[in-house]
Amino acid sequence: MGNHSAVAGSDDAAWRSGEYDDLRTAAQDMIAEMVETITSLWDVVDNADSWSPDMGACIDSLFSAAHCLTGTSGTVGCTQIHQTSAPLESALRQLRNERSLPSPEARAQISLWISELRDIWYKGDASIMLPAKPGKGAEAPPSSDRRVVLLIGKDADPALNRQLTLFGYDVRACPSGAEALAKLAEIKPCAAVMDMGQGGTWDYALAELKQIAGTVPTIAVAAPGGIGDRLTAVRAGCQAYLTKPVDGDDLVQCLDGLTRGDQNIPYRVLIVDDDPVLARSFSLTLRGVGMEVDVLCQPFGILDKLAEFRPDLVLMDVYMPGCTGIELAQVVRQHKEHLGLPIVFLSVEKDLDMGLTAKTLVGDEFLNKPIAPSHLAAHVTSRIRRARQLRAVMDCDSLTGLLNHVRIKDRLSAEIARARRQNTLLSFALIDLDHFKQVNDRLGHLAGDRVIKALSTMLTRRLRASDVIGRYGGEEFAVILPDTPPDRAMEVLDRLRESFGSLHHGSEESGFKVTLSCGVAHWNSGLDVEGFIHAADTALYAAKRSGRNRVAAFSYHASKAELAVP
Ligand code: GH3
Ligand code: MG
Ligand code: MG
Repeated sequence: MGNHSAVAGSDDAAWRSGEYDDLRTAAQDMIAEMVETITSLWDVVDNADSWSPDMGACIDSLFSAAHCLTGTSGTVGCTQIHQTSAPLESALRQLRNERSLPSPEARAQISLWISELRDIWYKGDASIMLPAKPGKGAEAPPSSDRRVVLLIGKDADPALNRQLTLFGYDVRACPSGAEALAKLAEIKPCAAVMDMGQGGTWDYALAELKQIAGTVPTIAVAAPGGIGDRLTAVRAGCQAYLTKPVDGDDLVQCLDGLTRGDQNIPYRVLIVDDDPVLARSFSLTLRGVGMEVDVLCQPFGILDKLAEFRPDLVLMDVYMPGCTGIELAQVVRQHKEHLGLPIVFLSVEKDLDMGLTAKTLVGDEFLNKPIAPSHLAAHVTSRIRRARQLRAVMDCDSLTGLLNHVRIKDRLSAEIARARRQNTLLSFALIDLDHFKQVNDRLGHLAGDRVIKALSTMLTRRLRASDVIGRYGGEEFAVILPDTPPDRAMEVLDRLRESFGSLHHGSEESGFKVTLSCGVAHWNSGLDVEGFIHAADTALYAAKRSGRNRVAAFSYHASKAELAVP
């Protein structure tokens, strides 16, 4: 065998070197297999003297093998093989369409290309250049720990520390700027809160402030003063400025705004391609820029895979056994929950009609293989960013940013399907604020809105990333807890109830408290979406009736519903 071992095209040789080796071996095996398949099938065609249906089948397989060889060699950068395989593929496509034996000239040309392929592969320099790691700009910034917050300042208010802790932040107190800088050298907090001291005298040198604010998003907390202090904070690079006494909800929402963001949730891409070498190569490229990737080589499994993996985008091959990518995309679009899912086709097909068909039928994009890794990464990134922005507007409640009523029910139905399929546990909770009308009546609707936001922030911060949270109605929230047994769900929600109830809305001196009631139901195979919601609602009603500020569970004994209130 020739020199197939060179790894070129990588600007970072150490990058996933183990995976490089595996992928290179797989690509080599695939190319070798296709070269041999083409040789032996061509032998049959070349020696035939009359046309027969068997001959038609043989030419179909020959075309498929050349198609696969062109795609694989192009993607893994095996340029010489690709350059010979591409014209061979077009000649075989023509032969397949004509459904007759090749002319003597065509025979001679095809034989020549095949022997060239063999020469390149077995004697020449068929080096494989795997996708380079895409350039720095395409990469997500290193993620910080979204729980850790520095609280800086010798007089930093202990009440702020308590409030942040209730919201699930891991607060690290640093009495001085120098200590904060030392901490920043070892940990990566998501933000810093700097107490600037009392009465307009700053506790920090501007240089120190600049260095901190340049390293981590920083919120200045200062005594009320003139515009001078605010300007100093701006010049130092602080992102927000709050005056004392600080309202805890304000601070948490400010922190949340600074630290939230798509950047913390990796983009998820599903690759559907029957060619495992191509799929792995694309996967390597996309994981190289921090995306989560799943590969589906068996196209018929797509609906289950979508429900399970919930990708932001599907990268779809066009030619696959059993159905085309365009047909498969139409099947996906028959489901209303996937109407907004971006589907990007990848094909060696240069046919413009095909691209148009794809766009007309399923409204998505058509890219040509081979594609440079940086282009693929850039393309996928911009598509997903836009799709996430759109989805945030369509699916989320505007006050809290949580899933709206319709979407949370969609998710519940998807989670029920998954629990059924995978035989896993599933809990569902409805949460309602207690005597909330009084909050509005006494303190105004705006104060009420802030309490609703505080609860949504607490739910988002305290629950697991896999839990699904929605605003079910005005002051009512819904939480789906996958893979969670009932006692565990009760425990989690009861701790949440307790934390929420001890929050001071407004400042600690002049603030007020609000409690919540919660009903939890546990899924069993007899329940559909409506039945499940009804069970949680019944439990919520029982929690209210038995005094509020508590969590109640709905349990099923001998098909008789029974309430358990702790
Ligand atoms: P209970 O403990 O029985 O739940 O008493 P409650 O007062 O919370 O219940 P009720 O259903 O009588 O009142 C709910 C209140 O929630 C009435 C409504 O004005 C208020 N509310 C609903 N949505 C919003 C909102 O978006 N913002 C504000 N500020 N208030 C809201
Ligand atoms: Mg294919
Ligand atoms: Mg209420």
